[in-house]
Amino acid sequence: MTYDKENIFAKILKKEIPCESVFENEFILAFKDINPQAKTHILIIPKGEYLDLSDFLQKASALDISSFWKSVDEVLVILKLKDKGFQIKTHKGKEGGQEVFHFHLHLLSNN
Ligand code: AMP
Repeated sequence: MTYDKENIFAKILKKEIPCESVFENEFILAFKDINPQAKTHILIIPKGEYLDLSDFLQKASALDISSFWKSVDEVLVILKLKDKGFQIKTHKGKEGGQEVFHFHLHLLSNN
């Protein structure tokens, strides 16, 4: 599978489709899931073009991978979730439940 530059998250990154952003820096965009499965349900996406977790880990530089995770930590601080419970999930492949083929994390919390 090749990366589709017209996928919905690519369009959100290009600001062609609106989103409810909670945090953005040069590495990531974090925004509210349109169909929340918990009190807090945020999607965290890298700005680079990666299909899924495997693609990201294979193709992104070590600096981009560490910057991505440091940025995830910033989202946890902003949402005041660091001292509370939360889940981070990612779907890989259609059989793994993935619907949008731009790598993303689901950040979920009912706290
Ligand atoms: P996944 O099954 O991991 O690919 O999840 C895709 C997620 O994207 C789902 O939880 C959808 O509710 C969410 N989603 C789809 N379109 C939008 C959108 N325009 N804005 C925010 N979330 C979206």
